[in-house]
Amino acid sequence: MEFIDLKRQYAAYKNEINIAIQEILDKSRFILGEPVSALEEKLSRYVGQKGAVGVASGTDGLLLSLMALDVRAGDIVITTPFTFIATAEVISFLGARPVFSDIDPETFNLDVEKLAQTIEDLKSKNKKPKGIIAVSLYGQCPDMDELLSLAEEHELFLLEDACQSFGAKYKGHLSCGLTSISVTSFFPAKPLGCYGDGGMVFANNDAILERIKSLRNHGQKKRYLHEEIGLNSRLDAMQAAILLVKFKYFEEEVENRNKAACTYSELIKGTGLPITVPVVKPDRTSVFAQYTIRIPGGKRDRVRDILTNKGIPTAIHYPVPLHLQPCFAGLGYKEGAFPEAERASKEVLSLPMHPFISKEEQQQIVEAIKEALT
Ligand SMILES: *Cc1c(COP(=O)(O)O)cnc(C)c1O
Repeated sequence: MEFIDLKRQYAAYKNEINIAIQEILDKSRFILGEPVSALEEKLSRYVGQKGAVGVASGTDGLLLSLMALDVRAGDIVITTPFTFIATAEVISFLGARPVFSDIDPETFNLDVEKLAQTIEDLKSKNKKPKGIIAVSLYGQCPDMDELLSLAEEHELFLLEDACQSFGAKYKGHLSCGLTSISVTSFFPAKPLGCYGDGGMVFANNDAILERIKSLRNHGQKKRYLHEEIGLNSRLDAMQAAILLVKFKYFEEEVENRNKAACTYSELIKGTGLPITVPVVKPDRTSVFAQYTIRIPGGKRDRVRDILTNKGIPTAIHYPVPLHLQPCFAGLGYKEGAFPEAERASKEVLSLPMHPFISKEEQQQIVEAIKEALT
């Protein structure tokens, strides 16, 4: 069994994907070009955003966004401690300082009340944060309206890390189209994945879009005239061509992910075991980048081992919250600083999830969890 079965997905679209790759080989234009512009156009229209810029990865998309927002050494950017390293890594990479704020235990996203307190605490120390990176974890957006008004009140930028949530809806609007700037990832395991690394920045402002286009290409608008220090972070034509094929089936895949999530939740509730299934708020939808349950009482690791022995792959997103990572030791956080993130890191378990998973496989997985817990 696969955690994310990319082989089954490839088999389903094989002819079209092979043709798309062959076309790129025949044209032999590999960097940016028409397929990348076509993808930028198509995806920005889909999410209802003014424009988009294809970049080399989600991580680079976050980095380029912060650069375009003029985040500099010494600036403070607030984010969640319960996310993939990339979210906070890019802040530190620019010499700025990540300040963490705890999560809502139900959705695993930033807790807005705690965030407001984090901002007040900083202000009382005469420290003014520059912005917020809000992660739409596991494929569900956070309380975006509340975050937007908090950001506006304190004159902060709000960047959506939508690396797991492309296709998710919040009050009828799509992730990547909710904030003035957002980033998604096309890493193969993401809901819309390519066959290597890739990412995209979405923004509602021409100046920002132009600046990111320049920054992804060594800070040049005109060839060999470098206006500012940038990097090489372009999206490959081949990845864009593959994504243009996969995007045709994307909505159908999101539907299948949601059906699989419903099946899991019904099966798990049917066991009567004290397992918490994912909560999707009524005003939004998830793309279930991960289907993540909570197993309390210190039993998570044992369940995981038993599943592994039965050939059922699982994952822990994420076993160590960022404030306790060795690379962030210099920030001075101690254990206990963010109890919800810490508790989540000990209880969460992500189960195999992809659009091609069968009901039989899901039954087998839930049966194995039941055996492990009884
Ligand atoms: C995957 C991911 C990233 C990084 O994306 P890459 O394309 O792998 O660089 C950033 N943030 C979150 C929340 C992610 O899940």
